[in-house]
Amino acid sequence: MKKAILTIDDIPSNNTKAIVDYLNEKEICAVMFAQGDRLEKMPENAIYALQNGMIIGNHSYSHPQFSSLTLEEGREEIEKCEEQLNRIYQMAGVVRKYRPFRFPYGDKGGKNKDALHEFLKQKGFDKLDDSQIPYSWWKESGLDKDIDTLWTFDFAEYNIRRGNDFTVEDVFKRINDSNPVSGAAILADGGYHFILLHAHDETEELVPEYYKLFIEYLLEHGVTFEKPSFR
Ligand SMILES: [Zn+2]
Repeated sequence: MKKAILTIDDIPSNNTKAIVDYLNEKEICAVMFAQGDRLEKMPENAIYALQNGMIIGNHSYSHPQFSSLTLEEGREEIEKCEEQLNRIYQMAGVVRKYRPFRFPYGDKGGKNKDALHEFLKQKGFDKLDDSQIPYSWWKESGLDKDIDTLWTFDFAEYNIRRGNDFTVEDVFKRINDSNPVSGAAILADGGYHFILLHAHDETEELVPEYYKLFIEYLLEHGVTFEKPSFR
């Protein structure tokens, strides 16, 4: 068995709606992490995602590196995104049951890490259930204790950019890598993954419907997508 939870960062984007339609077709429920400043400017696609069964979590307001912020600035980034999330859940007419959080770039705040965690706890953020993740490094790094949502596999498709050598083939190399430098092998039996994908219009421009290519491949190779649960 190869199980996974799909997480999608940096919504809303123009391609968010098409991604949601595709996921619904495949009966996959994803946790989508939204940026507050984007929600403020273009809430429609995030509202569409909520009304079509996706869970939206907090990915800060302006996507900074948290280790370069003061504690106060870090808290503000989280709070300002919360305001936007509460607003779009209300506009969508969907009850907000869960509050997952993901740090931009997985940067947990450097010297402010513990204080930011205390803040997430106080604010009632929810931890994506990682009890089935079997990798020893997950626990050894303390990730089983953290409330924020890191990942165990990253497509790294955001590197597909004009002027950059990284291509779709490189994404497939990552998918087929049985001994990756970071994270764990996505196609290994007995795996349980939090998969990281991004909703980027820049990627869409160069590789239309890139998300279909990757997700379809995983489905064909026996990965089943679980419904996210929280603890
Ligand atoms: Zn991001």
